[in-house]
Amino acid sequence: MQVLSQLSYSPKFNIVGALNITSVKTIVNYNLDALSAWGYNLTTMILGVHVSGSGRIYQALDTAKALGCDTMQIFSRSPQTWRNGIHLKPEDIAEFKARRKKCKINPVFIHISYLINLASPDPRLYNGSIQAYIEDIQEADDLAADYIVTHMGSHKETSEDAGIKRLVDALDKILDKTKGSKVGILLENTSGAGSWLGYRFYHQHKILKSLKEKNRVGLCLDTAHAYLAGYDLATKQGLEQMLAEIEEMAGLKLIKLIHLNDAAGELGCHHDRHDHIGQGHIGLSGLKRIINHPKLKNIPMILETPKSTEDSDKENLALVRKLNRK
Ligand SMILES: [Zn+2]
Ligand SMILES: [Zn+2]
Repeated sequence: MQVLSQLSYSPKFNIVGALNITSVKTIVNYNLDALSAWGYNLTTMILGVHVSGSGRIYQALDTAKALGCDTMQIFSRSPQTWRNGIHLKPEDIAEFKARRKKCKINPVFIHISYLINLASPDPRLYNGSIQAYIEDIQEADDLAADYIVTHMGSHKETSEDAGIKRLVDALDKILDKTKGSKVGILLENTSGAGSWLGYRFYHQHKILKSLKEKNRVGLCLDTAHAYLAGYDLATKQGLEQMLAEIEEMAGLKLIKLIHLNDAAGELGCHHDRHDHIGQGHIGLSGLKRIINHPKLKNIPMILETPKSTEDSDKENLALVRKLNRK
């Protein structure tokens, strides 16, 4: 019989907090059957939020820690502007690494700036995006961040094939110029608004198939984007169909991050609007099914839910932890 002690290397158990037991040692005598009979899910959930930061970059770690997060996502710089020669200060980078060690926030995801478009038909924007992306990876490396989450770009009404070709060329260049970096690149699926690529996993398939070097490339699955793109994650059948498609097109093992968001729009509406957990169209039962799906467990989950009030993150996190129980 499997006992908890075999899992005790794991950084955090939901069960520890749930039973209000402070030491893992005290719970090793319980066996999993007994605990799951009480309704506790014993998978290790790696849960966090997107921490929108003002102030110094290392303060994001304090915010994540205060919320009880295991992981977090941040912007490493303003997402709405170009870098303009501004870089993080070495002392801020050092402080970030020191605090992270103390806070044990793992992994750290950096979300790419909204201005970057690696599929743009405009040569100036395209080349500027590649350059900015290379600098962003170098800075992510300095911070010892694990992954950079990337929107797949907009082809701006040229064609999907032309956009995918430009994106592949851009990624080939970026991967070559950042050879030796430990930072992984995660391609995020989109809701399919405008000319944005990545609303069908066939796009990810074409990109992965064409890249010269794909060891550092994985996927980020955004649940709201998938629903808004037309994958009916409110139902068991819809979830299974999407997972089968991802498995066929790319491989589920490439999903390194789930953006766990409810969807504020109708199925397939293509408007990118996130909602609070359980308040959108995927709903509590749909999200519960995703959180507890055997093929998705142990994948880090980041909430990008609205921050309507000061307590929104706290409330959404609490709800997800609750749904993680049977
Ligand atoms: Zn995103
Ligand atoms: Zn997202």
